[in-house]
Order: sequence, then structure tokens, then C-alpha cells
Amino acid sequence: MAEIRVMREDLLPPKEPPRRHLISIGDLRREDVERLLGTARNFERSLERELKKLPTLRGKTVVNLFYESSTRTSSSFELAAKRLSADTMSIKSAGSAVDKGESLKDTSLTLGAYDPDVIVIRHPQIGAPQLVARYTGAHIVNAGDGKHQHPTQALLDLYTITEELGRIEGLHVAIVGDVLHSRVARSNIQALALMGARVTLVGPPPLIPRGIEAMGCEVSYEIDAIKAADVVYVLRMQRERMAEGANFVPSLREYTARWGVTPERLRPGQKIMHPGPMNRGVEIDPMVADAADALIEQQVRSGLVVRMAVLYDLLTHGPAGVQAVALHEIGAA
Ligand code: ASP
Repeated sequence: MAEIRVMREDLLPPKEPPRRHLISIGDLRREDVERLLGTARNFERSLERELKKLPTLRGKTVVNLFYESSTRTSSSFELAAKRLSADTMSIKSAGSAVDKGESLKDTSLTLGAYDPDVIVIRHPQIGAPQLVARYTGAHIVNAGDGKHQHPTQALLDLYTITEELGRIEGLHVAIVGDVLHSRVARSNIQALALMGARVTLVGPPPLIPRGIEAMGCEVSYEIDAIKAADVVYVLRMQRERMAEGANFVPSLREYTARWGVTPERLRPGQKIMHPGPMNRGVEIDPMVADAADALIEQQVRSGLVVRMAVLYDLLTHGPAGVQAVALHEIGAA
């Protein structure tokens, strides 16, 4: 029998994968989040100066590749890159070769030929960012892949909460509405749990994935449950992701009557958040959206500095490695 010789290195635990992408909140440790939020705070201070541009990423190239519509995310990534003096390119699927049937692999190889430093991608399919990571040498930032993850949204939400309430640890956040189709909900549940908040999901049973408690949250099917929270995070009813003919709720009118976030369902002092775009009068009453306790505009402002921090961090430290997509994370179980 051949002799088996064990080399010393074989006994060591496997090395961590190179940390170069931000694909899921699951890629981050608590100290990564704390570092990112601290960097965002420094950038916020720098933006108070008259001259808003920093030379930090001069000579770097950031490509925004968006296969789904976006206002806030695409504009803030573009402005974030510009504020750091990077060159930017924005490609939308409509009007690009994607219209002619080019596959994501071929688009990645084409863009990779320009040697971009970062590719920010939004795509309706779960796992698209990993695919682009495989075919280019760029750092990849997931700006939303199907109903899976939208990590920079969760980071900007953490930032907004910390700036407003001074902490996350020990806070109670109720996430209300269409959790089933929401990458924002999945990223936020993970991020809030990581930072020590208590999370309760509230909504009608067909819109709350079964077994989602495994992500570290509670579930309530009673809208009154939102009253106990410090922060009420309202989700958009995502009609574009609901399969045609599927009746998740009897009608939008009924949804609003039973689950809409109205002034009567809140108690004074509760903070209100929404990732946008809002359906005013559906999931959120306009009076709630415009109230002094709504942090919705602050979320947009946080988006800029948090995305500056993510670009800076990837190109200097690199916070995260590509992870396999876990089924429980997608809520497919
Ligand atoms: N803008 C967020 C997203 O892209 C939320 C939403 O669309 O409802 O996921």
C-alpha cells in the first residue's frame, strides 16, 4: 500500500477565500459592517465641504450594469463613484446588446475586456452577480438579484437607523408587507440580526415565506404587532414579481384595508422607513410617508455615502467573498 504522507499545511484549516465582492449580507461580519458604516460617516462629513469631490479613486473604473429598472440605486452608485473621482460607465439592458439576445456571460466578457475595477450589477435572476464574478476580474457589487439580496440597501438602512436612533443593538424593527418577493427584507433581516436588533415580520400569511424564522426573526400575521416596534419598515407590494394569476391577496384594496400602514396603526415616535419606490395609498398612507418621523428621504441620502464607502472598501480592503446561495436565504424552502 502506498504510503500517505501528510504535509504540515494539510492539517491547517482551509484559508479564507479572497475577499473581493459584496454579493450578500451573509458575506459580512459584524466588524465589516461597523467599518463600512464608519467610513460612510467620514464621507458624510467630507460632503459637508464646499468641494464635494475626493481624489480617492482617481484612475479606477466603475461600471453600472442594470437589467432592471432603478432610480435610487443606479443614481447613487453613479454619483458615489463620481464623488470619489472614479470613471463611470452605465449600461442599461434596454438599448444595449442585451436587447439583441446577448447572454450575461458574453456581456461580462465584453465589459471585462475594458478591465473595470468594479461592476455593480442588478439582475432579475438570483446568482447573476456570481456569474459576472466568474467571467471578469472586477470586484462585484450586487445591487439586487431577483428576490435574493440587495446588500447595499440593508447597509444604508443600518446607517440611517444608527444616525437617527444612535444604535441598532436592542432595537425592535417590524418589517411589514410583501416579504415573499423582497430582497430588501432578506438583506435587512440578516443585517439587523447580525447587529443585534430584534426583527418581527408582519403581513398576510401568503406573503411571508414559511420557515423564514430560521433567519433569526419572528413572524406575526396581525398588523397590530407593528405598534410594539421602534422602527416600522414598510415594503413595496411587488406586483411585477407576483406570478400572473396568482392571488397572494384578494385585492390591493383589501390589502390596504387590512395591512396598509396608516397613522391610526402607529404610535407616536415610531420611525418609518421604506426602500422606495412607494405605492402611496397602497402599503403606506401618504400621511405616514410625509410625517416628521418618516426617514425615507434620509435613506436616500444615506445611500450615497454608504455606496461611496462600499466602493472605497472594496478597492482598499475588500469586505467579502463570493458565497454559495443558501436556499434558506432565498426563502425557497
Ligand atoms: N428598490 C428596492 C429594490 O430594488 C425595493 C423595491 O423595488 O421595492 O429591491
